This record gives sequence, structure tokens and C-alpha cells, in this order.
Amino acid sequence: MTWTVHAIKYAEQTDRVRGHNFMFDDNHDAPCPIDFFLWVLQRDGEVILVDTGFDATEGARRGRPIRLDPAEALAPLGLRAADITTLICTHLHFDHAGGLHLFPNAQIHLQAAEMQYATGPCMCHDALRFPFTVDHICEAVRRLYQGRITFHDGDGQVADGVTVHQIGGHTKGLQAVRVETEAGALCLASDAAHFYENISGGKPFPIVVDLEAMLNGFKQLRTLASRPALIIPGHDPLVRQIFPAHPNADFITRLDRGPTGSVPL
Ligand SMILES: [Zn+2]
Ligand SMILES: [Zn+2]
Repeated sequence: MTWTVHAIKYAEQTDRVRGHNFMFDDNHDAPCPIDFFLWVLQRDGEVILVDTGFDATEGARRGRPIRLDPAEALAPLGLRAADITTLICTHLHFDHAGGLHLFPNAQIHLQAAEMQYATGPCMCHDALRFPFTVDHICEAVRRLYQGRITFHDGDGQVADGVTVHQIGGHTKGLQAVRVETEAGALCLASDAAHFYENISGGKPFPIVVDLEAMLNGFKQLRTLASRPALIIPGHDPLVRQIFPAHPNADFITRLDRGPTGSVPL
């Protein structure tokens, strides 16, 4: 049986330009807004949350107000935060791990390399540390000491039809999620590709720890989805135009039936 997959947009940042999102871009001053998502996989009573968003406190601290509390945004899907017992954290950046504390009953699936990266010598550098928030990392460590983290090393299985795949580049332990759906194998790229254009143009995103690995990751994403149209970039506002909205909530987009518009890949 296949999984239902929804993307929930909980925040946006409209004051960005292309130079924030694409390295070496000729048109670096042109506006280029970004959406913030979390993703929900559901199958016959099973639920897997992919990433947690960030809360209002973190949004205020970073000047990026949220539109919805990530935990409350689950309501149109019939879910409460307490129901979440399986959570895939794609990486520990603030916009993906900033709500770990909102899901206290979750077992968290994380790459071992990501925990090592976020708590190791690389964090001595401001330029590598700034997308992380120490309270989020401390929460991850707390959950580790509660026995609530399952570590993966490269490829791993979370449930029948749901696997994780480490992709280097953006951080040391980012993982994309491959999920079997009605439309085929869907790949939630998270920040392995923020936008379709990162992949189609081979244009790196400027938050990068290993440029070669990031470029290889764009190719790796193509191997994880049944077809390119089922690669879902982590922050692209186009996703909400290409895939259909939930009938009762315009901030929720349904992904598992495939696109209804043309995908620029
Ligand atoms: Zn990130
Ligand atoms: Zn991100």
C-alpha cells in the first residue's frame, strides 16, 4: 500500500533575492522568495512527520515570522502534535529542527553525521554555525539521552516504502526521503535542492559545506524518484502551483498523486 504525502507551508520569506539562493547568478538582485515547509506521510493509520519547522520565538529571533505554528498546522490532516511518534529530521538547521520540542512523543530519525557535524569542530566557524540554533541542538541531544533518536548512516529504512538517503553538500548529514506513492517513488529533497532551478541549472545554494558533494547530490536526487517530476525541492514556492491544494486548507499541498502542472525539470 502506498503513502499519502502532503507539504505544509508554515512560513515564507519574501525579501530574498536570487543571490541568496543561487551561487554565481548573473541576476543576483532579482526578487526570489522562499517558502518553508514540513511534510506529512500517512498510510492507513500510520503517520510519519518529515521535519518540524520553527516556532514563533525562533521566527522573531531571526526576523522571519511564521504564518502558522507547525504543530497546529497539522490539524486539517486530522493530526495533533502528540500523535506524531515517528519523525524524520532531514537535517538540524533551524527551519527543519526548530520544532523538535513540539513533538515530544516522536522517535527521531537522523543521520549520525548530522549530529556529529552540529556538535563538532565545524561549529567553531560562524559561517557554518549560523543556520543552526543552539537550543535546537540541545533538544536533539536531550532526545538522544532519552533514547528517542534512531541514527542512520547513509541509506536507511524508516518504514515499509519509506527510506532515507544521505546527500552531502548543504550540511554533512542531510538526508532526503524516498516514499512510495500512487504516482511512483517520490523524493522529498529537503535542502539537497531548495529550488527546481538548483537541480535544472546545476546552480548551488550558497549555504554549503562541500560544493562537489552538493552538485553530485543534484544527480543523486534523480536516482531516488521514479521520474524527475516527483523530486520535491525543499523551499520552492512553485511546488504549490504545480501540485494541487488540500480542499480545506490552501497552505497544504498534496504531492502523492503527482503534479497537475508542468515541472521545470
Ligand atoms: Zn538547511
Ligand atoms: Zn531549509
